[in-house]
Amino acid sequence: EPPQDPGTEKDRVRVIVRVRPLNSRETEKSDRSILYCERENSITVEGAKHSRRFTFDSAFDVTSTQEEVFHYSGVKRLVDMAIDGYISTCFAYGQTGSGKTHTMIGPGGANIFRMDENFRIKNFGLVPRAINYLFQQLREKSHETNAPYYIRVSYCEIYNEQIHDLISPSHSDHLQIRGSIEDGFYVENLFQTYIETMDELLTILEEGELNRAMASHNLNDTSSRSHAMLSIQIEQDIQGTDDQKEQMTRQGKLVFVDLAGSEKVKASLSKGKQLTETNNINKSLLVLGTCISALSDSVKRAGHIPYRDSKLTRLLADSLGGHGITLMIACISPASSCENESLSTLRYANRAK
Ligand code: ADP
Ligand code: MG
Repeated sequence: EPPQDPGTEKDRVRVIVRVRPLNSRETEKSDRSILYCERENSITVEGAKHSRRFTFDSAFDVTSTQEEVFHYSGVKRLVDMAIDGYISTCFAYGQTGSGKTHTMIGPGGANIFRMDENFRIKNFGLVPRAINYLFQQLREKSHETNAPYYIRVSYCEIYNEQIHDLISPSHSDHLQIRGSIEDGFYVENLFQTYIETMDELLTILEEGELNRAMASHNLNDTSSRSHAMLSIQIEQDIQGTDDQKEQMTRQGKLVFVDLAGSEKVKASLSKGKQLTETNNINKSLLVLGTCISALSDSVKRAGHIPYRDSKLTRLLADSLGGHGITLMIACISPASSCENESLSTLRYANRAK
């Protein structure tokens, strides 16, 4: 049994928002900023017609640095819980261009890996920071207990309800989901690799981001139309108590998901393949929202939770099923031209809370 309790329903799901700065394209067409963060956890949208206020666990404004987001988002707790044997999941949600990849990986996604060390240390997103923290904690622990630990990583993308391997893209045709709600779902034949150092993980992240970008070049910008899921399995050998001398293994998991862009693509404007794709994205994000909102509500939790309705939620059933904790990061643009999308992101995040 893991030693630490994930706590009450409310502690299981944490929802935060991050507002990115206006970009040069927006400033050039004299877009205004309409979002204001107050008191560390509330955000006001000064819309064209109405002003609306939302409250979350935290709100990060345009001045927030990558380091601040790492320290105050609750990601460290996700890592601590994963070390203690729980499943921790972190999502980035928001319209394309709102800062999901920036927040998760760093500016320009894979580009950050080509920058010099000083730039990277300052600009790395949550994932590299969390992994660095994970290695630190595990090293300290195993120094105390002398027990070994193993870290196994897989990285895949769900595009149009098809799963692609981002570490080993060549052997990734027709990857299928196997398993059950009881035993957990997994992707059959998904490449998994053991890593021992931070550099090995960074290499995987870089290759994965490049593979994601490459696919998007061929397939009409799939990177904004796909969910990227990085899973980090943590296994530790632990000694039983004096009575039970046998060795046990503790298994925890840390999952990061850079979700597909949440923008509403009007079904009437897309046809054929694109229409299926749009419907699949809308559906998986909708089902995810329903699953997360059920998590934070004991009444809904007892009812039917529609994990099976999308590949994304099926793969996350063990995390969403209450064996762990979830952090949702809603990313938003402050521009007046994005008012509707920003409101829709804030409503989605509000529902998850
Ligand atoms: P998404 O992954 O949601 O499509 P990106 O993370 O690619 O969006 O962000 C779009 C652009 O905005 C990128 O050039 C990114 O570096 C920049 N950006 C996003 N968030 C921030 C931020 N908090 N500070 C500075 N630039 C940002
Ligand atoms: Mg992105």
